[in-house]
Amino acid sequence: MKCHKVTSQLFSHFSTTVSLLHLADITEKGVTFQSPVDGKPMLLTPEESIQIQNKIGADIIMALDDVVRTTITGPRIEEAMYRTLRWIDRCIAAHKKPDVQNLFGIVQGGLDPVLRDICVRGLVERNLPGYAIGGLSGGEDKDSFWRIVAQCTAALPEDKPRYVMGIGYPLDIVVCSALGADMYDCVYPTRTARFGTALVPEGVLKLKHKAMASDERPIDPTCPCMVCKNYTRAYIHCLVTKDAMGSQLLSYHNLSYMMRLSKDLHTSIVEGRFPEFVRSFLRAQFPKGDVPEWVCNAMEVAGIDISACCAPFPSSMNDFAEEFAA
Ligand SMILES: [Zn+2]
Repeated sequence: MKCHKVTSQLFSHFSTTVSLLHLADITEKGVTFQSPVDGKPMLLTPEESIQIQNKIGADIIMALDDVVRTTITGPRIEEAMYRTLRWIDRCIAAHKKPDVQNLFGIVQGGLDPVLRDICVRGLVERNLPGYAIGGLSGGEDKDSFWRIVAQCTAALPEDKPRYVMGIGYPLDIVVCSALGADMYDCVYPTRTARFGTALVPEGVLKLKHKAMASDERPIDPTCPCMVCKNYTRAYIHCLVTKDAMGSQLLSYHNLSYMMRLSKDLHTSIVEGRFPEFVRSFLRAQFPKGDVPEWVCNAMEVAGIDISACCAPFPSSMNDFAEEFAA
């Protein structure tokens, strides 16, 4: 597990997104997508993607990659991985400000460990300032998801930032951090806010629920954000069903929650108590000890003992039977 000092103020993202694949057509030239303005087809090449990002001037810029859904099978996955490797060279060649802007390559290869390995090696050979793990969070099962993350983080250089794209839920962020990832991006905190859901240490709080109508407490009494200091659940419940302001207040709180989670996670790594952070996070999220199996499997690989957070194996009946027999 490595911790990186993040000095970047600006981050631009022109890589293809799994969730928007239905709007894009990918050929060797580039990605053709529908203009959000007039619906006309527009071609974005790897070179143009870098030129635009050079103009924006972000500290971290992303290579253009060929993305496929992790749920598909067949030769398309291999084609996309090799094309991503060919495109990284076009991106590197087009990059005019390598001294001030960090170009991250993106690992593709679907759920195939062999293809992921080829892609990781290919990108590492190019000695990029940072690496992203792409193509995940597209409907694959959680066990496949964390195994690909674990494989890539283990093979990518420890002294370079490792970024898992499209992640995610607070639980996914904690698990991926345990597996060695450093950076994430996701629409989840604001999207779920628009559906009336708040992120809290115990999981989620649905503000549209009838019970919220008379609840005078803040969303999260432990949260120091402006929304929790000034508004009650009842007030926000009243808004979320009628007014966009409800979504805005919930977005504000959810982003505060994510920032606090990231900050606390980071501090726990710096102070050498990350395993304890993971355990207290899991205890709050799963008070009954029903931690999902994929999380237990991932933590075993990460070398973090979470047995204290999981419900004991139901062996008490056996013990009782043995005692009775004796
Ligand atoms: Zn709050």
